[in-house]
Amino acid sequence: MAKATRRQFLQQTASAAAALHAFPMRALAGNGKHFEAAPEIADRLDAAAVRKLASQVRGQVISPAARDYESSRLVFNRAFDRHPALIVRCAETGDIPRALEFAQRQNLPLAVRGGGHSRAGFSVCEGGVVIDLSGMARVEVDADKRVARAESGALVRDLDRASQRFGLATTLGGCPTVGIAGLTLGGGEGQLMGKYGAACDNLISAQIVAVDGRQVEASQYSNPDLFWAIRGGGGNFGVVTALEYRLHPVGDVLAGTLMYSAGRVPELLEAYVKFVAAAPDEVSIVGGLLPSEQGTRFRMGFFYCGPPGQGNELLKPLRALKPEVDDVRVKPYQEAQEAGFLSSPVAHFQTDLFLPELTAEAIATMATATDHGPPNTRVFIVPFFGAVTRVGLSATSFALRAPGYELDIVGLWNATAEKAAAVEWVKSLRDKLRPISRGVYVNQLGDTSEELVRSAYGANYARLAEIKRKFDPENVLRLNQNIKPA
Ligand SMILES: Cc1cc2nc3c(=O)[nH]c(=O)nc-3n(C[C@H](O)[C@H](O)[C@H](O)COP(=O)(O)OP(=O)(O)OC[C@H]3O[C@@H](n4cnc5c(N)ncnc54)[C@H](O)[C@@H]3O)c2cc1C
Repeated sequence: MAKATRRQFLQQTASAAAALHAFPMRALAGNGKHFEAAPEIADRLDAAAVRKLASQVRGQVISPAARDYESSRLVFNRAFDRHPALIVRCAETGDIPRALEFAQRQNLPLAVRGGGHSRAGFSVCEGGVVIDLSGMARVEVDADKRVARAESGALVRDLDRASQRFGLATTLGGCPTVGIAGLTLGGGEGQLMGKYGAACDNLISAQIVAVDGRQVEASQYSNPDLFWAIRGGGGNFGVVTALEYRLHPVGDVLAGTLMYSAGRVPELLEAYVKFVAAAPDEVSIVGGLLPSEQGTRFRMGFFYCGPPGQGNELLKPLRALKPEVDDVRVKPYQEAQEAGFLSSPVAHFQTDLFLPELTAEAIATMATATDHGPPNTRVFIVPFFGAVTRVGLSATSFALRAPGYELDIVGLWNATAEKAAAVEWVKSLRDKLRPISRGVYVNQLGDTSEELVRSAYGANYARLAEIKRKFDPENVLRLNQNIKPA
């Protein structure tokens, strides 16, 4: 960075001093930049406390009048249009206890944001404080030890790219802009989970700032209870600042899409279920029921991380069903990862169910619903088998350990007028499938309730509630799939 001239330095110092004395009209961000405080926010906030916070953090304190406030408050799910009082974009771990203390002293709602992809809009709050970790996104890879250490604002693509430079990877989700922290803390399903388990199964340790400002490590050796809880229990226990992952050799893979003509859903889903039942750990095959003018079409996102010849053999029965599109080919793992299903911000409501089986009844219910749904509705099907299902139910708090199918039921809208129909369709299909479901995946839930959260953790909920009491007894971190302190 170019050095500031003496004149620039004096100007900066003078305006900094003016800012420190003039809040609420003007305040100093931690990086030396200024923001104008909107009068209504200034009225609500304790000006001296904001000044103190801004002078203490190395990151940015972004108020509603700041130039980048609008872009900073937006989250992936555009259904949420919330206006926080302050966004603290942290630059280092030391900023986090300050932001936590500020929010608690001012009694303001608190949201924690990594990649901003929460389906339920949990990473932004109305009138409160957002701890934004996007400025802390460094990733370091120790190729010899096959370990990656990433700051918690890193995205899936940051960690994938850094690891792939050494021909390594760990299980991460299929959307490159999802945050690694949100993904991993809730479990983390991805194309490698049959072979290497969920993202949380590859976590070696995490650095955490507890709500009282303490910095703690969670690993098998330090705070093992906390380590158990954060592998599935989401952002309930503290603000994670860094995560350390186990990596595996992953080179080119055989991957792509098979898309079939409309009107064949029951037949294709039966073939899909048969395929999944015999699939080796190296396979991932995400199904998609997608509307079209001709009726519902079935798409399979195929992935195989073993020898390509064997993958092509496996594909024979699916190719025999004559897909209209078949772009499955050998490609770098990174390319397969970045061909995500839905990667532009969009307003949506999504919910989630875990079915132990895709029975004929479930298939018929989904086929009928998708044939008669509004145009922007979809169902994605993520089969669970292999390594992710061989971890014991109580080994981590993530409780989706039985083989089965995780269903993401989604309704999207571009105009508000389309919202009601999309949301109603999602809820109605969920209600029909709920009696045959067993559990939900917290990371894919666009709504919440105590019943849903308990259903996500089953027998693990009671232990999670005990650990929550130990690390967050006042439930400061409650804008999440919330575990209530016992
Ligand atoms: C397009 C899309 C594709 C997706 N694909 C997948 C997929 O393939 N596999 C999968 O498993 N999931 C997937 N998800 C779900 C995703 O895992 C969750 O939405 C996840 O919570 C997003 O994490 P984030 O950091 O991007 O989101 P954020 O909205 O920033 O965070 C979500 C929540 O996680 C917690 N959190 C985040 N960072 C921290 C931290 N540093 N410390 C403490 N708590 C924290 C907070 O409670 C926060 O509210 C997808 C979501 C979307 C929108």
